[in-house]
Amino acid sequence: MTDQPWDAAIIGGGLVGVATAFYLSQRGARVLVLDRQELNRAASGQNAGSLHFQIEQRLVSHGEAMTRQAATILPLIRDAITRWGGITEALGETDLDVVQHGGLMVAENAEQIALLESKLALEGEGGLPTRIIDGDELRSMAPYLGPKVIAATHCPVEGHGNPRLITAALARAALRARAEIRTWSPVTGLRRDGGVWRIESGPAGDGGARIDRARTVVNAAGAWSREVAALAGLHLPVFPVALSMNATDAAVPFIPLLIQHVGRRLSLKQMREGNLLIGGGWSARFERAEGAFDTLRPPAPRLESIRGNLAAALTVVPALAQRTLLRSWTGIVGVTADQLPLLGEMPEAPGFFVATGGSAFTLGLTYAALLAEMIDAGRTSMDVSIYAPDRFGHINMFMGA
Ligand SMILES: Cc1cc2nc3c(=O)[nH]c(=O)nc-3n(C[C@H](O)[C@H](O)[C@H](O)COP(=O)(O)OP(=O)(O)OC[C@H]3O[C@@H](n4cnc5c(N)ncnc54)[C@H](O)[C@@H]3O)c2cc1C
Repeated sequence: MTDQPWDAAIIGGGLVGVATAFYLSQRGARVLVLDRQELNRAASGQNAGSLHFQIEQRLVSHGEAMTRQAATILPLIRDAITRWGGITEALGETDLDVVQHGGLMVAENAEQIALLESKLALEGEGGLPTRIIDGDELRSMAPYLGPKVIAATHCPVEGHGNPRLITAALARAALRARAEIRTWSPVTGLRRDGGVWRIESGPAGDGGARIDRARTVVNAAGAWSREVAALAGLHLPVFPVALSMNATDAAVPFIPLLIQHVGRRLSLKQMREGNLLIGGGWSARFERAEGAFDTLRPPAPRLESIRGNLAAALTVVPALAQRTLLRSWTGIVGVTADQLPLLGEMPEAPGFFVATGGSAFTLGLTYAALLAEMIDAGRTSMDVSIYAPDRFGHINMFMGA
């Protein structure tokens, strides 16, 4: 047991946890990161890497009220645009394969164009630079789009990052700023004791638990943040969702933009090496253990998802017919009950913070920077009260550590 409590013990070594360690230790805080496996092995290393700033298809496809609610993340999006633009330099790296060449969200019919228009209005109000294009302008910007695509919204600052590089770079920078990172250290117990948190962790199967004390705990366990909250006696409405991704062989670079679809589940981009990454929220199948979802084993791929995803991609970019599917993989993401981020301190457990939900590759740096502000300064540079976990206070009325 260390004599001095850590300023923050961060549970989860994905992008959100490691970025929080980076921002906090830059502010001079003593920070410990604990992950039950290697860093970046979960969603942060498995995702599509889209930096999608337009309101996503999954949010516009459930009616106007949901679209309007989704638009409340636009202040976070504006922060993410700037933060991703400067992250390579901020981490002292030369190249993290982060590009922001712009993105298109495409439509194939009048109904989908109406969806584009309704989200465009909200994005305009929220200060996102998007506009609708069609005809010759669309074809000259993206000559590879198939004939069924008739319009798109263009956002000039969208792009993609390389999920394999960013968390490692954040970890290097956090270590330089004196954070401690312990992998293969599953957290198994959390208790508040004498005003500080007592964190029990241990190398899996080792038998000897290790105890740390910390003034604050950050639950950055992604799809597992519900289980981590339960260790502190709290409910957290975060649900694991199994998704799949596909990658083709490499082609001569021809798609500089991030491509999404407003009416179908599709995200498409070409990585630097020429491979095309195709995703967009197609499901995979959880394994089961004792009647429950087993989130510790990789979800099984579903052939119908792979087929559906590739069919959508082929409609939008017919030249993909020349490519070979190299690899499909699956990952698990945590989705909140109301699709909004969960960001802040749990009122029932002072010093217990959470950051999860939503597209936390795009928004992960922003969540982390805001958490660092909350923990270090006790306030944030933007109003984040709408994302605070106390909106679920009714399910924690009788709970607590
Ligand atoms: C297939 C797929 C595609 C996606 N595409 C995109 C995209 O294009 N753009 C986008 O913005 N988002 C995307 N997402 C979502 C995004 O990847 C996640 O929102 C984000 O990576 C979450 O980061 P995180 O750090 O919160 O969680 P994770 O990366 O899941 O990390 C959580 C960590 O917590 C650790 N952990 C769990 N329990 C414990 C414990 N008890 N003790 C210690 N450690 C523990 C885990 O080992 C893990 O390392 C995608 C997700 C998937 C699965």
